[in-house]
Parts: sequence; structure tokens; C-alpha cells
Amino acid sequence: MGGVEDDEPPSKRVKVSSGQSGGVSNGISLGEQGSCSVSDPMARLLASQGDDEVVGSKGVVKKVELVRIIAEALYSLGYSKTGAHLQEESGIPLHSTGVDLFMQQILDGKWDESVTTLREIGLMDESITKQASFEILEQKFFEFLVGEKFMDALKTLRTEIAPLCTNDDKVRELSSFIVSSSHNLLDGASGHQSRLKSRRKLLEELQKLLPPTVLIPEKRLVHLVEQALDLQRDACRFHNSSVVEMSLLTDHQCGREKIPCQTLQVKMDGQVSLKHKLSGHQKPVSYISWSPDDNQLLTCGVEEAVRRWDISSGECLHVYEKSGLGLISCGWSLDGLSIFSGVTDKSVIVWDLEGKEVECLKGQKTIRIADLGISSDGKELITVCKENMILLFGLEIESEKFIREDQTIISFALSDDRKYLLVSLSNEELHLWNIDGCARLYFGYLVFILI
Ligand SMILES: [Zn+2]
Repeated sequence: MGGVEDDEPPSKRVKVSSGQSGGVSNGISLGEQGSCSVSDPMARLLASQGDDEVVGSKGVVKKVELVRIIAEALYSLGYSKTGAHLQEESGIPLHSTGVDLFMQQILDGKWDESVTTLREIGLMDESITKQASFEILEQKFFEFLVGEKFMDALKTLRTEIAPLCTNDDKVRELSSFIVSSSHNLLDGASGHQSRLKSRRKLLEELQKLLPPTVLIPEKRLVHLVEQALDLQRDACRFHNSSVVEMSLLTDHQCGREKIPCQTLQVKMDGQVSLKHKLSGHQKPVSYISWSPDDNQLLTCGVEEAVRRWDISSGECLHVYEKSGLGLISCGWSLDGLSIFSGVTDKSVIVWDLEGKEVECLKGQKTIRIADLGISSDGKELITVCKENMILLFGLEIESEKFIREDQTIISFALSDDRKYLLVSLSNEELHLWNIDGCARLYFGYLVFILI
């Protein structure tokens, strides 16, 4: 047996893991588990049940696996007695007797025996066995060092670790600990509890190596339940509720009533009434823009035409079209005497109010779905020219400035004073740009979208 005595000081690993809560990673105290470890008759019962029995209407949930993750959850929650009862009543052990023994040997510091047991567990992958053995023997090595059994440590390194380790640098690193003063290994840790903590830490590391069928992953049941809730939320067509409103007791589904459908802004007298129906577009209207004096409205059909409306009469004052091409956005000049429109050929056209084409800004000035705006001095056209790029085009001197984003731009909005540009991105972030002068990022916000 390769363990060290209980009165010996803790290993270096203790120092590394000091301050952590310790405990076996699946929440099971080996003491507790040992007291209820499954006896051979229970194992025989399990064998008689077979591990292919399924539960549930779909026939995909294996009973053995379900009971095992329930038992793991019970131990994780601190209900060790109930976990033990479950194992006993079901005859389904959380772990095989070999794994139970292995875990106990780790906690007892029976290193050589644990390496032997590890081989008997029957891992298919030899590299996993090798890696796990290395970690066990590394712990053994450090515990010898801390106990100032330098010759034993050296022997472990030479005859057990070195043959396992293909990494010579690692062996050299370990040997350097023999040369260095051992008191460094003692810093911040002492006593039986600290050594136990370091061994539990080792078990956590081993759990990451061993297959889930051998050692059940930590909090597996909770993880599965969380996955189920995530899937239900993602499948919820009208989802608009917070996480705390979701319950394990019912399948989640938001009704249509969850979608905001009440008017939040109303006229001062509290009445909302239909004033005009602005009819004339052949295609759905995708873009509107109020004139600077709010007396007129521009509307743009999807890749169609722009119409200018008089708000008081509801009359269409003019239709702006481009032969062979569609219009995709619209905006006003600051003086309200000309309008801008993005075109499907990526150009931007400037018309006077009567429809005379004043200018056509050719080239890559806009994309198919993009916002359009004019800067505070009226001298710059602001438009999305690529998926992740905004163009600030100098109308007088035809200069070009760009704002480049890392993500796809969904839309942008100008502040009332037109000095700030709020950009919505596909990664649910909002970026606020100061475009008064040299464009620079002012703030970034994370946006939590509820749908
Ligand atoms: Zn929902």
C-alpha cells in the first residue's frame, strides 16, 4: 500500500485547492456513499433486471440511467439517506462496486490499490487509464514530498510516474520539487482535512477523465432539466416572459396575449381615431419618414416606389419611381425640399419634391434593407452600405467616412439632434456612436431580447 499516514502534512495539491469546498465532484461524500455502498447481492439484482429496460412512452429513457442520475441528484442536494434508500430499493447502484472501491481508495490514499482497481474497472481506452494513473501517482508523489519522504517520492517518480509519462518536461518539472525546499509545499495547508480536500480535488479531476457511464457527470439531472426548459423556451412561438415564470411543473408556452398589443402612446385627449387610409402602394410598405415639419409623410413599398402624402388631407402628393429598379428606403433633407431614396442597384437618388432627379449617388451606397438619414448639418448622408458598415457620405464634397461594426447591422436610429447614431447589431448589442465630427463609439449596450 502506497499511502501516507494520516498525521502527515498535506500535499501540494492541498495548497492548490485550498479555499475550495472540496467534496467529490458529484456532491457525494465518500463517507456517506461508503456507508451505503451497494453490496454484491444488489449488483446481482441489477444484473437480473438488465440495463435495457426503458420507461416513458417514447421508449428512449433507460430505467437504469434514470435511477442513477436521480440518485446522483439526491446526493448533490444533500439527501444522502434518500439516495442510499433509492439505491437499495431499486437495486440500481449509483456506481459499480469497483468504482465505489476506487473512489474510497483515492480518499484513503491507497494509491497503488486504486491504480489496480482502476485497471479492473475495465476502461476501454488505455490512454484514459494511463492519464488517470498518472494523476493518482502524481498525488502520491506530492504527499510523499510533503511528508518529507524524499526517497519514496523519488522512487515513485522513477519507477511509476516516469514509465507512464511520455512528457519528459513533466517528469523534470516534478523532479524539481524534490530539489526545492519542501516547506513551500506546506504553505496554506495542514492537517487531515486539507489532505482530504486535495484528494477530493483529485477525484474531481479523475471524474473529468472517466467515461460518464463509469462516473456520472456532476449534476447531470439538473443539466438535463435545464436543457428541457431551454428547448421549451426556444420552441415557444410567442415567448415573452422571464425565466422565473417558467416552471418544472408544466410545459412552458406563452399565449398570444403575451405579445404587446396595447397602444402605449395616445393623443392628448386620450382618443385614437383613424384619420386617413393612405392607399396606393402595390407592395407592403417597408419604410416611412416624416417630413421635418411633420406635415408630410414619405412611404416606401418593398422594392417599389416612394409616395409623398399630405397628412391633413391624406392626399398622395407625388410618386417617386426609378424605371427598371425598386426603391427600398426614403428620407428627407433637413430643409424638407428634397428627398433621398435607396435603390435596389445600391445607389441613392436625390429628388426634389416634384420628382426631378437632382442627383444619383452611384456605387455601393446602400443595401437591400437599410436605414437612411441625414446628419445634423445636412451635409452628410448616413446609410448602411454593407452588412456591417455604415457610410457617412459628404454630399457637398463627396467624401466618405465609414463606421465598421463587427456584427451585422440590423438598423440604426439618429438622435433628435442628429449628433448620435444608435446602431442595433445582430449579436443583441446596441452601439451608440457620436457622429458629430469624427465618428467614435460612445457606449455599447447589451440588449436582452425577449422573443
Ligand atoms: Zn414562452
